[in-house]
Amino acid sequence: MKQRIVVLGGGFAGVYVARELEHLAGGRDDLHITLVSQENYFVFQPMLPEVISGTIGLVDVVSPLRRLLPHTDIHVREVEAIDVGRRVVITSPGFRPHAHEIPYDHLVVALGAVTDFRGMRGLPEHAFPFKNLGDALSLRNHIIRSLEEAAVEDDDAELRQQLLTFVVAGGGFSGVEVAAELNDFVRRVARNYRSVDPNEIRVMLLHSQERILPEMPEDLARFAEKILTRRGVEIRLNTRLSAATGVEAILGDGTRIPTRTLVSTVPAFAHPLLESLPLPKAKNGRLEVTRELNVKESDHVWSLGDCAMVPAAEGGFAPPTAQHAIREAAVVAHNIVTSIRGGKRRTFDFRGLGKMGSLGHRSAVAEIFGIKISGFLAWWMWRTIYLMKMPGWGRRLKVAVSWTLDLFLPPELVQLRVGSSRGIGREHFEPGQEVFREGDLGDRVYIIVKGEAEVLKAAQPVARLRAGECFGEMALLNETRRNATVRCAAAMDALSLPKSEFTLLSANLPELRSSFQKMADARNENSVLASKES
Ligand SMILES: Cc1cc2nc3c(=O)[nH]c(=O)nc-3n(C[C@H](O)[C@H](O)[C@H](O)COP(=O)(O)OP(=O)(O)OC[C@H]3O[C@@H](n4cnc5c(N)ncnc54)[C@H](O)[C@@H]3O)c2cc1C
Repeated sequence: MKQRIVVLGGGFAGVYVARELEHLAGGRDDLHITLVSQENYFVFQPMLPEVISGTIGLVDVVSPLRRLLPHTDIHVREVEAIDVGRRVVITSPGFRPHAHEIPYDHLVVALGAVTDFRGMRGLPEHAFPFKNLGDALSLRNHIIRSLEEAAVEDDDAELRQQLLTFVVAGGGFSGVEVAAELNDFVRRVARNYRSVDPNEIRVMLLHSQERILPEMPEDLARFAEKILTRRGVEIRLNTRLSAATGVEAILGDGTRIPTRTLVSTVPAFAHPLLESLPLPKAKNGRLEVTRELNVKESDHVWSLGDCAMVPAAEGGFAPPTAQHAIREAAVVAHNIVTSIRGGKRRTFDFRGLGKMGSLGHRSAVAEIFGIKISGFLAWWMWRTIYLMKMPGWGRRLKVAVSWTLDLFLPPELVQLRVGSSRGIGREHFEPGQEVFREGDLGDRVYIIVKGEAEVLKAAQPVARLRAGECFGEMALLNETRRNATVRCAAAMDALSLPKSEFTLLSANLPELRSSFQKMADARNENSVLASKES
């Protein structure tokens, strides 16, 4: 009977396990491989930062799973639960509102890690994560939009400063690469904005330790610092990001950096699905595996990549990198096949080939087999090695062509507007921050979830609003401008509903409209009385 092997995750770990299994199947009919992933493509993450600058096209960094894995059943759904007792994986509903169950004999958990800003004031609402293709696209669009806005807002110095300041938090590999690409991009395209002076642009890299790239030898990290600084990146060491609002990044020492673009590459967390699994986990929530990569105390559940604590040959644990995930995948596939067909199991003995980080603009740092390289040669090696590692000749060719064209052509500046509205969102405000000003156009309604706001008319406080109360409705109901200023009084989280959605809801729910109208009338009456009394 065929053994059902279900691989969860379509990243480096999952794809390379399935690939290796296809290879080991060798035409025999005893393995049935299924790969479950929430996207139908594989993302080549090391090149993701280049999407920001448009050096390579958006879809050049992804490959369709069905082409990569022609002998695997691809199941594009979100994994909702894993029932280890019944040996089934439950996936989310699709167009039809019912769940799917996929039975397995061997399960490979390769769900990676997640970006989690929970507990970090204002970051879930205002910081851009940088992990997948969607993150890269929305960041790129946001950067272009900020430049466009700066070109329009030429009379508001404060707003221009926010729009033209770009802050990246986290000086590890991905933070450094994001800062480098972002910096190159905004400075290269600035010349297309006649009213933007390149000297107004600030790109900052915040790092909590005393040097960036802690994974690299100190001299290479210092070299990277020098190169980035020379190109205009302001590096702040020993600096921790503590909170954020829509208009500023707040540092641990209380310093406020006005910005509308904050990218955070904080360390990733264990995948939340692992939490509920009755399997051994390390303190950081990752699955504990043996050196043969089966999950401890289980002979049919395997794990690898960023979601597992993989013991390293030299002691400690393997770092969460693509090069390790690929080698772990070969071990997992081999050991699954030997546990089905018999044979000797392998242990994970890979020690790492080295580390490389691109600094953009034809410069990089690398340590390969203990040899340190920096500058153009490291950059050339970075490109050659990663190009050869990309799965599929078609993608390699496209990337090579994009890189070549980038040498001669100006960077792509098109802002792709996907989706017309953000819908209901969450926003965080710090004390003293204005939510809107008297005379502004009414663009949204706010509902306070936590914290307090004060309402001011002619600079005098007239009311205080607390959790559960809403504000901003008057201008929307009466199609007028804001008749008061609202300012945050105590750190506040609020839901914000854009005008278009509010109008749609109130037009279709007469009760909602009338209760908002009553509230607006009562507020109007109170303010008339208050002004008579004074
Ligand atoms: C910007 C960036 C740059 C990097 N650069 C390098 C580099 O230069 N060199 C290097 O070695 N490493 C690099 N890394 C790290 C490397 O990419 C990761 O270590 C590697 O991707 C881990 O592979 P993984 O398969 O474990 O996780 P991931 O690649 O994160 O894959 C997880 C997969 O699981 C899927 N998934 C998650 N949840 C669900 C769910 N509920 N249902 C269904 N599917 C789900 C995801 O969609 C994804 O396909 C970089 C990472 C980033 C973010």
